Amino acid sequence: MDLKKFVRDVPDFPKEGIIFKDITPLLLNPEAFRHAVGEMLKPYRGERIDKILAMEARGFIFGAPMAYELRCGLVIARKKGKLPRRTLQATYSLEYGEATVEVHQDSIGENDRILIVDDLIATGGTARALASLVEKQGGKVVGFSFLVELTFLKGREALGNYRVETIIKY
Ligand code: AMP
Repeated sequence: MDLKKFVRDVPDFPKEGIIFKDITPLLLNPEAFRHAVGEMLKPYRGERIDKILAMEARGFIFGAPMAYELRCGLVIARKKGKLPRRTLQATYSLEYGEATVEVHQDSIGENDRILIVDDLIATGGTARALASLVEKQGGKVVGFSFLVELTFLKGREALGNYRVETIIKY
């Protein structure tokens, strides 16, 4: 199934010069959505995963069905100020701007094996910040799963030796 057909380019959003990859057409197509979730899981099916860490907001859309399917826990990483209890924070730069991400302090245990999920990897800054939040809590990053990779931004290189799996590459 050619999932690229379901990703729409939106030029100059949210800023001039950025081509936003809009995945909402994929969500509207039940077969494409199921296929995308299945493909994002496939490389990790043989691995022991204790929890999926999904990034707000589009990472939730893919991370939640993956956790349901794997019968593992789901940890949500949110933008600053949204989580009600004590958090751990990491600040990072985006393709467009800077942001702080946080997780609840008790969300990841020592030696928990974590799969990190988001819709898209651009520069890899968000992903690196998420890995640091896992490791600060003593967790182990098993790998990353993204639906879309913007290869020209070299996010994969920014992630060094971590395992990075992506489905749609531009
Ligand atoms: P980065 O930290 O640079 O890898 O950026 C990845 C995060 O920003 C993900 O949460 C993406 O959803 C979002 N993002 C960055 N660039 C784009 C883009 N061109 N289209 C859609 N989402 C993007």
